[in-house]
Order: sequence, then structure tokens, then C-alpha cells
Amino acid sequence: MSKSNAEVVVVGAGAAGLFAAIHAARRGRDVLLLDGAKKIGAKVLVAGGGRCNVTHHAVSEHDYHTGSKPVVRNVLRSFTVDDTIEFFEREGVSLKRERTGKLFPTTDRARTVLDALLQAAVQSGVRLEHPRRVLGVGPSDGGFVLQTESDPVRAKRVILATGGRALPKSGSDGLGYTIAESFGHTTTDRIFPALVPLVLPGGHPFRDVPGIALPAILTVVARSGKHLAQTKGDLLLTHFGISGPAALDISHAWRDAFEDDHEVHILANLYPSQTVEQTDASIQKSGGRPVRAWLRDHFPERLCVAILNLSGVSGETPCAQLSKPQRVAIRSCMHEAPLRFEDDRGWHHAEVTMGGIPLSEIRWQNMSSRKADGLFLCGEILDVDGRIGGFNFQWAWASGYLAGCSD
Ligand SMILES: Cc1cc2nc3c(=O)[nH]c(=O)nc-3n(C[C@H](O)[C@H](O)[C@H](O)COP(=O)(O)OP(=O)(O)OC[C@H]3O[C@@H](n4cnc5c(N)ncnc54)[C@H](O)[C@@H]3O)c2cc1C
Repeated sequence: MSKSNAEVVVVGAGAAGLFAAIHAARRGRDVLLLDGAKKIGAKVLVAGGGRCNVTHHAVSEHDYHTGSKPVVRNVLRSFTVDDTIEFFEREGVSLKRERTGKLFPTTDRARTVLDALLQAAVQSGVRLEHPRRVLGVGPSDGGFVLQTESDPVRAKRVILATGGRALPKSGSDGLGYTIAESFGHTTTDRIFPALVPLVLPGGHPFRDVPGIALPAILTVVARSGKHLAQTKGDLLLTHFGISGPAALDISHAWRDAFEDDHEVHILANLYPSQTVEQTDASIQKSGGRPVRAWLRDHFPERLCVAILNLSGVSGETPCAQLSKPQRVAIRSCMHEAPLRFEDDRGWHHAEVTMGGIPLSEIRWQNMSSRKADGLFLCGEILDVDGRIGGFNFQWAWASGYLAGCSD
């Protein structure tokens, strides 16, 4: 092979592409890994708040949104969490399991994970070139020709691991979809940001209390009143709306429903450790205490003010003098605050992509394209997005492994 040609060209050196390249090279293939980014591994480095949540101790297809759970199950079973732990252990990265079930490097540094991947790539003979963006891929002499920012590259096989559209400044801007489409692939009707914060309208009292974090249950509710999805976890109130694990996890379901009906909303239970009945009884037992003082037993002062604003009740009103509608208003704001969002925060703040290339267009056994011989796809470019907790990287490792190991 001439220097700028290769048996296998992997496009995209993110988690999936690095894994595919390493495993293809370990099987003796001549592998060229191209990435358009100046700095490799941006998403690995920012992941998990800079600690990189590499995987989760228990992963199944039910942790993902996708058009085909059976395919996700098969891929995950082909390269399991134990395989991930063993891979990194062999590369000198020990993982530790936290109380939440998430696995992080014992160093608590994402850099350790990225360095191990890059070292494994170099040691297995992968040639990594960046920044070298692939602008298009076409068929050529029973193989492929890739147009790049410099000379064209010829390859017998191409593994497309260009990611989705989340965090475009990292290099994943959706061009991979266009390349796949040029071979007859399609994309799902909906491609939206997921694991993304949600934006409340200006003037909403919760926007005035940024920085407050609390456990919550969030429920997506349709116009008809039907509960569409629910998640439980830590919620962070911000200057624009909501963030934190609970908000990010519910964002996929909210956005999907919002596309069909802008009347969809989220009910926020901000005090899930107590039932509505217990809250009601507690207010009624509090006699002459001002409702604001009673609220302070449950929430930080600033949030008490926001709840009073939302409910329209004066904080000085003694609990015993609250009318029934006022009591209901207070407890509703605590247990089912209706939040109507304007939008999500967009691609620049999203962790993953909802939608992508349908799994029906690949053979899961080796992630090969059903549209073009010699083309393989792995990682976030496909229609798979996981919840918070290391599930998205596990998908990248497993699908990248299969694409790299293909005969
Ligand atoms: C802030 C943040 C935190 C996250 N934290 C976690 C976490 O802790 N745990 C977890 O499991 N998941 C996390 N994720 C999600 C996880 O990072 C992704 O699911 C995963 O990185 C997807 O891997 P990928 O290789 O498919 O795509 P990407 O990581 O997006 O990599 C694609 C690569 O392809 C390159 N590329 C794109 N187009 C071209 C082209 N035309 N030519 C050449 N190169 C190209 C890009 O430069 C990029 O390097 C996080 C994401 C973000 C944004």
C-alpha cells in the first residue's frame, strides 16, 4: 500500500473509531485513521465532568433509545462491560465502580483513558492523521476513494465513525450522514439533541434561582394528560431552565413529544421523599407558622421564594389560614410543578444525538452496511442514544469492536 492508501480507512477518531481502528490493526490489517479535528478525543476528555464515565456496571438494550432494541442487545452482548474493563485493565487503566453503578478510571482523569486508547492505537500499528477531514467517499475499483482536505486516499474498506451532531466544536458536525447517504443510507426522520438541558421561558421563577440542585422526579405529560416518560435523579436549576442528570435523561422523551405537540409539558416533583398527602398533612399541622417558614424546612430559602411566586401565595400567610386552593397550589408546586419548556439548549450543549442511521441498514454481526460492500458504521452515527451513566461509551466500544473485528 502506498503511504496515503490503506486496506482499512477509519473516518473519525472518537471512541468508536479508535476502538475500531485498534481492533482492525490487531487483526493484522493496515489501518489509516483520519480525523478532521486538531485535537483528538475531545469528547473523551470532557466526558463525565473530565473524569470520563467509561461504562456502567449493568448495561442492557433497555438503557437506550433506538429503532431496534434486538440489534442493540446483540451488539452489547458481543462486547460486554467485562470486556471493556479487561481491555482498559490491559492498557494500564483500572476502572472503579461508584455507588451509582458508573465506572470511572481510578485516576479520576479522562486523560488517562484517552492516552491509553492512543497508545493502544500506535502500538497496534494504526496510522493516525489529523487534522485531515474527509469531505466525501466514493466507490473506486472495487474499493473506495476518500476525498480529504489534502490528497485523496484509496481503501478497500471504510469504517464510518464520524459521530452524530452533538458538540459540533469537537468535530462531529453531521457530515458523516451525508457521506453515508451518498451510498444509499437514510437517516431517521428525527435527528435532535439528546442528553441536553431544557429552556424555560424568560420570567419563569425557577430561572431566578440558578445553582440549586435537588433530587426530583420528572414526568413528561401529553396534552391528553397521558404520562409519556418518567425519570428520577438530581435536578439542577439554572439561569436558563433545568439541567443535571434528571433533566438530561428526560430530554429525549420531552423533545420527541414536543415535536408532535407543543402543549407537552413536564411535571416536576421537587420533594419525592414525601407523598402529596404527607405534605398536605404537614401544612395543616403547622398552625400559625408562616408558610414561608414551613417551606424553609424543606427547601433552600431562594427556592422557597420561587415556589411562593409560582403558587401565588404570600409567604407571610400562616399555614392554618391557607385556603384549600392555596394549600393545593403550594403542594402542587412542590410535587407536580408544571414546566412548559420553550426549547432544548441545542447541539452545542447536547451530549448525544437522538436518531441517526437506522440499525436496519447494517448487519450487527460486523456493523457492515447493507447498502455498500466494504462500508461499516459504528458509534453515535447510528440510531442509538443511551441514558446518562456510561451507556453511550459502551455502545461506542461494542459497535467499534465489531466493526474492527470484521473478517
Ligand atoms: C459533554 C459530554 C459529556 C459526555 N459524557 C459521557 C460520559 O461520561 N459517558 C458516556 O458514556 N458518554 C458520554 N458522552 C457521550 C459520548 O461522548 C459519545 O456517545 C461518544 O463520544 C460517541 O463516540 P463516537 O466515536 O461515535 O463519536 P464522536 O466521539 O463524536 O467522534 C467522532 C469523530 O469523528 C470526527 N469526524 C467527524 N466527521 C469527520 C469527517 N468528515 N472527517 C474526519 N473526521 C470526522 C470528529 O472530529 C470526531 O473526532 C458525553 C458527551 C458529551 C458531549
